[in-house]
Amino acid sequence: MRGSLKIRRLRLVYLIIGLVFLSISGTSTIQIIAAYKAEQASLYETTLALNYESAQKMSVTMNTLFSSMKRSLRVMSERIAKQSNANASLQRDLDLFTESTNYFNSVFIINKDSTIMNVSPMAIGATIPKLISQPALRALELRQPSISAPFITATNRLIILMTQPIYDTSGEYMGYIGGTIYLREDNILNSIFGSYTASKSYAYVVDGEGNLLYHPDKTRLGENVAKNKIVGKLTNGFDGQEEVVNTHGNSFLAGYADSDENGWGIVVQTPIEVINAESNKMIKNVVLTSLPLFLVILLVTLWLGKMLAAPFSSLAETAQKLVSGSRVADLPKAVHWNYEAYHLNETILLTMDTLQQRVDNYSIEAQTDPLTGLANRRTMDVCLANWTVENHSFSVIAMDIDHFKAVNDTYGHQLGDEVLKYLAAVVLSVMRKEDYCCRFGGEEFVVLMPDISIELAYKTAETLRKKLETHNSPTGKPITVSIGIASHPNHSSTDQTVMQCADQALYTAKRNGRNQTIAYMAKAV
Ligand code: GH3
Ligand code: MG
Ligand code: MG
Repeated sequence: MRGSLKIRRLRLVYLIIGLVFLSISGTSTIQIIAAYKAEQASLYETTLALNYESAQKMSVTMNTLFSSMKRSLRVMSERIAKQSNANASLQRDLDLFTESTNYFNSVFIINKDSTIMNVSPMAIGATIPKLISQPALRALELRQPSISAPFITATNRLIILMTQPIYDTSGEYMGYIGGTIYLREDNILNSIFGSYTASKSYAYVVDGEGNLLYHPDKTRLGENVAKNKIVGKLTNGFDGQEEVVNTHGNSFLAGYADSDENGWGIVVQTPIEVINAESNKMIKNVVLTSLPLFLVILLVTLWLGKMLAAPFSSLAETAQKLVSGSRVADLPKAVHWNYEAYHLNETILLTMDTLQQRVDNYSIEAQTDPLTGLANRRTMDVCLANWTVENHSFSVIAMDIDHFKAVNDTYGHQLGDEVLKYLAAVVLSVMRKEDYCCRFGGEEFVVLMPDISIELAYKTAETLRKKLETHNSPTGKPITVSIGIASHPNHSSTDQTVMQCADQALYTAKRNGRNQTIAYMAKAV
């Protein structure tokens, strides 16, 4: 059944705005996501490439440094070989070497019997002779240049040891000169690699076995990270760049390069969150800068949507009013810049206007008597009922043409009609503007007169009656009427009874000889 299903109907303006909003925000979102992905990918690639480049540069620096360190140890070992017995001058040379090169935290000379001969700086010399560690002894047996893995000394220092054997002029092995790097203290590695801090990126150095020799986090020094994928590649002599998860489970973009000089490797890496944070920052900027424009577009759309939907909204409202039965006095005018909206609006308004006029005509027809143009009985009943309910005071004049049948019989029905029209005109000429004149049926007429005393109503009725009796009707002769008058609320409380009272008075007038006015009260007298 129609109307049984309740469908929520969306307003056109909301529909247009919703559609535009969806499409704008949809495309913007897609664009922002695409920009985010592109930015992320580009940052990813750039960071990898930069880190690789840095690692390579550092590797070159380290190669240069280590060959210098080796060479300086070699030169020193040759000097020592030549002046093996002059201990005091040897110490001076050694101190000069340590201070001027700044390569090592300490330098010492050990003879082939494992006795420390000289130590520079002198301050630490006292303890070292008694505390020779295993890697130092192994280097002694090796009799050739060596670099140790990190090890803890008896004085609890994490160090690496670089040695250069000393052979005297006759070629006999005398011991070696060793240079140490204290990994956890200020050292040559720190001063070179520690300066590399670019936007949370950092570098670390591993030896050929994967032990950490330099790392910004000093607690990790000496830790073996050979399991790390990159360190594995480095120890096998590969260079490269890739994303890596470190031994602690964090992701990094790393560039790595190994050093030919000592077999060590350098990794420069950036935490992946840095890339994400940068991308997020960029997107936030994009969103913030485009937000005002987005809002302006949205407002313009809102306005345009409203403008576009306005004629349809007004049509819908007008149609609703018409359907609900109210008369729309001023139909809106079709004015719109949109071609379709204008023509559709104009056509529908024209149709509505025609329909409304037709309805008006029908209702006028339904309310009036076609012959005389007076209100008909149905309209009179409605008016009477309303007045009674609203408790208006009013008088009713009921009249009936005397011997009208004879008029018809004598002059014919058509002239009879003319007489009826004539009577209607005379009634209207006598009554006030606010009086309600009706053709009750046949040759009977009723006038409802609001707010009038029965005396005044009587006077008016008499004026009418006398006018008729003294003027010729279309038959060429006057007609006469009998009139009954009653008033509300004097004579009755309902519309029906007041009519009956007037009717009764009319009947009395007929019975009393016609051509007279009888007020209902008058009958009692
Ligand atoms: P009375 O004085 O008692 O009222 O006599 P009367 O002849 O007027 O009364 P009656 O009710 O007998 O006659 C009314 C006549 O009115 C009968 C009918 O032919 C005539 N009539 C009713 N309606 C019309 C109409 O629309 N046109 C014409 N020409 N005559 C009508
Ligand atoms: Mg009659
Ligand atoms: Mg009559």
